[in-house]
Amino acid sequence: MTDRLLGGQAADRLPNDIPVQECLKIADKLIREGHQVYQKFTCSKCQSRQTIDMPDTFYAKGRCEECSHITDIEKKGCGFLVIMRMKHGSDTV
Ligand SMILES: [Zn+2]
Repeated sequence: MTDRLLGGQAADRLPNDIPVQECLKIADKLIREGHQVYQKFTCSKCQSRQTIDMPDTFYAKGRCEECSHITDIEKKGCGFLVIMRMKHGSDTV
């Protein structure tokens, strides 16, 4: 597995969601560097952790797969998962 939250020390400091704008700033940089980013958020109803299955895509709202509740990600904040791309190939997942 090569996926991790932001990598290194940042992952340890980010157990919770951060503001969407902060996420976008960091994610945008990672995407430009060639990595894949998947948005994550926490359902505001059942607290289950959700991952958006569209790479490099961030939503303002997200539907929970557990309870179908729509979470206002813009208000609640979000996190993301990074699939690090190795230099020697595009199919590392
Ligand atoms: Zn839920």
